[in-house]
Amino acid sequence: MYKVLVLPGDGVGPEVVDEALKVLRKVSSVAHLVFDTEEAVVGGASLERHGVPIIEATLSKAKASDAVLLGAVGGPKWDVLDHPMRPEQALLALREGLGLYANLRPATIDPNLLDASPLKREVVEGVDLLVVRELTGGIYFGKPRGIKKNPDGSEQGFNTEIYATHEVERIARRAFELARKRRRKVVSVDKANILESSILWRKVVTEVGKRFPDVQLSHMYVDNCAMQLIRNPKQFDVMVTTNMFGDILSDEAAMLTGSIGMLPSASLGDRHALYEPVHGSAPDIAGKNEANPIATILSVALMLRYTFELHDLALSVERAVREVLKGYRTVDLLQEHGQPVSCSRMGDLIAERVRS
Ligand code: NAD
Repeated sequence: MYKVLVLPGDGVGPEVVDEALKVLRKVSSVAHLVFDTEEAVVGGASLERHGVPIIEATLSKAKASDAVLLGAVGGPKWDVLDHPMRPEQALLALREGLGLYANLRPATIDPNLLDASPLKREVVEGVDLLVVRELTGGIYFGKPRGIKKNPDGSEQGFNTEIYATHEVERIARRAFELARKRRRKVVSVDKANILESSILWRKVVTEVGKRFPDVQLSHMYVDNCAMQLIRNPKQFDVMVTTNMFGDILSDEAAMLTGSIGMLPSASLGDRHALYEPVHGSAPDIAGKNEANPIATILSVALMLRYTFELHDLALSVERAVREVLKGYRTVDLLQEHGQPVSCSRMGDLIAERVRS
C-alpha cells in the first residue's frame, strides 16, 4: 500500500488534481495496487480555513506519506496579503520541511503537438531535456531579506543569493546520476561572470563532474542559456541550475512544448518527494473546466517512476497521454488540429487508455 497526501490547492489546482486521481485510480485497478490517498488544504484554501497558508498537521502528514501530489496555490484574492501570509509560502514550507532540494522538470515534445509549439517544427522536433533546479537554497531562501526604510523615507528591497558547497554538491550529483540514465550530457547554468555565488557553483559542479567521467559537462551563462533554449533546444540533455534561474528557464522550456499545461515536475529530497504541475493556479480559467490536466497526470507518472519505481506503469500513463493527443486537445493546445475537450473529459480519455 502506497500512502499519498493530496493537496489540490487553489484555482485550477482542484480541477487538475481530480483528473490525476482518476488516472491514479485506473493505475490502481489495472495493477492491483492500493494507493491510500488523503486530502488536505494548502495555500489560499488553507488561509480560508485555518488563517495560515499551511498548518503544522499538514506538514506532518506530508512527512508521513510516501509522496505528495499538489495542484497549485495562489490567486488574486490573496495577492494583497503580506509576504509571510501569501499562499505561495505553503510551497516554500513544504520544500524546506521535506528537504526537497532537487526539482526535476522534464520537457519533451509530443510528436502530435509539434504545431502547438510557438517555435518552428524543425527547431522543436525531438526536444527531450530535463531541467534540474535547486529548490531549497539560493535567493528564494537566502537571508538577509526584507524591505527597509531609509532615513530619507524611501524604501529598499533586498534579497540574498547564497549557496554553500554541500547544497551545490548534492544537486550536481543528482544531475549527473540522472544524465547517466539519459544521453550523458550535463549543462550547468550560472552567472559566474558577475556573481560570486555562481563562481562557487561552477567550481563545485566541476569538482563533482570529475567523479562522472562518462558524463560530458559544460557550463553556460544564464542569459546565453535563455537564448539557446529558443535557438537550438535540441542541444540540451540535462540542465542543472540554481533556484531562481531554474524557475525562469523551466517556464521557458515549458513553452517549447506548446503549453505550460503539459509540464510535470518532481521535487525530490533524500527521504521525501512531491509531485506537481509546473503551472500555477491559472485564476483566469479556474472553475471553467478548461484547464489542461496533462501536467498533473504526467506528474503522477513521475511519482510512479521516482517514488514507487513502477516504471512500466509510468510508461503506460505517458503512452495513454500520447494516444489521446492524437485526436483530442484542451483549449490551450487547440491549433488547427484536434477535437476540443474539457479538463474532465481529457482525464476520462487518458484514464480509459491506461493499461497494465
Ligand atoms: P499560471 O501558470 O497560473 O498561468 C499562466 C498562464 O498559463 C495563464 O494564462 C493560465 O491560464 C495558463 N495556464 C496555466 N496552467 C494551465 C493549464 N493547466 N491549462 C491551461 N492553461 C494554463 O501563472 P500566473 O498567472 O503567473 O500565476 C497565477 C497564480 O498562480 C499566482 O497566484 C501565482 O503566484 C501562482 N503560482 C503558483 C504556482 C504553484 O502553485 N506551484 C506556480 C506558479 C504560479
